Amino acid sequence: MSKKMKKLFLGILCACLLAASLPFGPASVSAEDTEVNVGKLSDSAITFGYAKIEVKQGKKKRLNVMLGEDTPDGKIKWKSSNKEVAKVTKKGVIKAKECGTTVITAKIKGTDIKASCEVEVVKYKKYRVRATGYCNCASCSGPGHPRTASGRYPKQGRTLAVDRRMIPLGSKIVMDGHTYYAEDTGGAIKGRRIDVYFHRHSRASRFGVQYKTIKVYYD
Ligand SMILES: [Zn+2]
Repeated sequence: MSKKMKKLFLGILCACLLAASLPFGPASVSAEDTEVNVGKLSDSAITFGYAKIEVKQGKKKRLNVMLGEDTPDGKIKWKSSNKEVAKVTKKGVIKAKECGTTVITAKIKGTDIKASCEVEVVKYKKYRVRATGYCNCASCSGPGHPRTASGRYPKQGRTLAVDRRMIPLGSKIVMDGHTYYAEDTGGAIKGRRIDVYFHRHSRASRFGVQYKTIKVYYD
């Protein structure tokens, strides 16, 4: 192949790869996709590898982006869409200030190549608690208690009973990666104790006694 032909061939190859990756692929190109070393494609790769993260209010967190093999470090421009929620330093370190959501963008300087991820700033406390199960039956809740202390009807997978002096009613609580809400109270539920609501007594008693770490979110 002549030099000219080679150039042409490479040009077409690049154009095809670009065209193939643009309309259907993700906004960013992951590091694995850049192993085919085709001119500028590998230079331009940048991705967070995740779409959303949670950062605790008052904390710092370093965001990592994956770059193409030839993308030099330190040539990234960082931006936060809402600086009141979180700022981001030149090195990609988030400072979480207020509860809310912001979009952090990492852009390779002098190009339009960028990646972004959503950062949610949250306030929470972790507690180690003794968890038991309960239902609406007379032996669990006494007679005539169809509603929870919050006024809502209880729902399996959502309702937890808590000590409202420690956890305000209505709080979002994450346990084992699942989101519940503090909706009920109970005579025996004092301090670091929670009761997990089940529709059926058999499920409630099968839950037994478990020690859990829960995350209680505050507004
Ligand atoms: Zn019961």
